[in-house]
Amino acid sequence: MKYLIHDAGHGGKDSGATANGNIEKEYTLEAVLYVLNRLKNLGLNSDCTRTTDIALTNTDRTNKVKEYKHCISHHFNAGGGSGVETIHSIYSDGKFENLIIEEFKNAGFPIRQKPVYSKKDLRGKDYYYMHRDTGSCKTTIVEYDFVDGLQSEKIKDKLYREGMYECVISAICKFHNVKYVPLAEEIGMDYKALYENELSKSDAQKILNEKLLDKLEQITKIINE
Ligand SMILES: [Zn+2]
Repeated sequence: MKYLIHDAGHGGKDSGATANGNIEKEYTLEAVLYVLNRLKNLGLNSDCTRTTDIALTNTDRTNKVKEYKHCISHHFNAGGGSGVETIHSIYSDGKFENLIIEEFKNAGFPIRQKPVYSKKDLRGKDYYYMHRDTGSCKTTIVEYDFVDGLQSEKIKDKLYREGMYECVISAICKFHNVKYVPLAEEIGMDYKALYENELSKSDAQKILNEKLLDKLEQITKIINE
């Protein structure tokens, strides 16, 4: 059985939630590609349900996901609320989901009032098909924030969105015992490449420090606005 798959919610003719210039299917694909790449650099290989803007049926999705032990289904919310929430199966303990929420809290992102939950349908089964029809795979649905909520302007900023994806990456690393290297250090890793090419060590360090400070400042600024 394969280990971890990321599901980019919606796609193709299904845009998902749209408001204020925010298009869910674009953000979910962005999230998946970003997380896949970062995890790969950190030494954890995973897969995804789509890498382009295509429509998938529920069955397309569940057939892929069933082959894995864990799945994270990436979504953005709608309905005018605020903050991140995670949904787990009625058969799961929510440990991983709580880890994700901790990371968002620590980073200063807004959290929904009940940020971790599961939901039953009228038959007493899992309400969401990504939990109900995915066999033994443990699926976590992450709803990053609301396209039409309090942060609908902030989430237009790619840097703000990436800050949220980093929280999920960090939680995955903790849960799966992989060493998490913050984005800051990953940018720092470019330094080696720069240094080895043409710049002197001090010049390379200077440029990267500026680049890094700038990026961290931007992230802090956006969160605190
Ligand atoms: Zn969605």
